[in-house]
Amino acid sequence: MSLPSAEEQLSFLDHVQRLFEEGEFVATYKFALLLAITELAVERGTDSSDALELPLDAIADKFLELYWPQVMPYKGGVESGILVQSTGKQAAVVTLLQGIRNKFGTLPKARASKDWRSAVGRTVSLLQVMPLWRLQILRRQKVEFLYEAGPNASIRLLPGVMYNLRRFSGLLQQLVRAAWAGHIRENPKNTPIIGEASDLEQVLFGSDRSSLLAARPVLREIQSDTCFYCQGALRNTGEVDHFIPWARYPRDLGQNFVLAHKSCNGDKRDLLAAVPHLANWRDRNVKNSAVLKNELGDHFVCDETTMLRVAQWSYSQAYATGAQSWFAPKQVIPLTPEFRDILS
Ligand SMILES: [Zn+2]
Repeated sequence: MSLPSAEEQLSFLDHVQRLFEEGEFVATYKFALLLAITELAVERGTDSSDALELPLDAIADKFLELYWPQVMPYKGGVESGILVQSTGKQAAVVTLLQGIRNKFGTLPKARASKDWRSAVGRTVSLLQVMPLWRLQILRRQKVEFLYEAGPNASIRLLPGVMYNLRRFSGLLQQLVRAAWAGHIRENPKNTPIIGEASDLEQVLFGSDRSSLLAARPVLREIQSDTCFYCQGALRNTGEVDHFIPWARYPRDLGQNFVLAHKSCNGDKRDLLAAVPHLANWRDRNVKNSAVLKNELGDHFVCDETTMLRVAQWSYSQAYATGAQSWFAPKQVIPLTPEFRDILS
């Protein structure tokens, strides 16, 4: 299996850099589009140089999910309001989502509705009119380095692109989020809403800590009120931890939550958990598959297949770069290849 050469990878990063320097960003759509294809490459791709076909409705679905946290009123300055995502009038996707969010409240409920399906359809049209064919225009020149039009309402990531998006997902996430937040902050219409607030990026892209609380009772029950990592008693305390760290995969999937001591969770931070924990987590998800889906499904998207693929991706990426894994507070050990069997 031939992978993109170091030179090809560098050229990809060069192009991404050019995109931020030379691309025009009237609205935040292009940022959402970049994040959407990156996440889809992670969720649906493999570590090979192959091209990858992405249906436009899958991109639209992801696109809506990315805006979901951003259609809530925000108050950092003197006024409360919905942040404006365009230098012109408010981005259509925001207006579209606002209605759905008010009606359904939580993302999984919204996603299961007819309204969501119709919003996906409208977003596909919106993508086709604008960001899809403008993202790759640098200084008025078309530079097709990410994708080309595919058959039947799809795009085709060019050979090597899927690999690079998976490999550099963390970097891309950080770049895009910073640029997206910057765009919103620089929009004068948002000045009274944002004021001097410094938590803007957290609000736009962070995990919603308060909604995580909804996962605690069921996790406590499954884990018999003990810490997922050290098995010590929790006595009704404990924090909901993203087993695959949020920094690597910023999306709340129900199967990704475990309950842990604040001290264990805090020490683990953005590291992947060591292989013995991975085995327990996989086991937990298999054994409690129905409970997790039934009890968490109203609050979080629960998707076992995607969760497994994301775990495979994050562990193989970490292993390929010789990363360390977290075993216990102040105990970090090299990641060993047994993760492959556990996640097969
Ligand atoms: Zn613990």
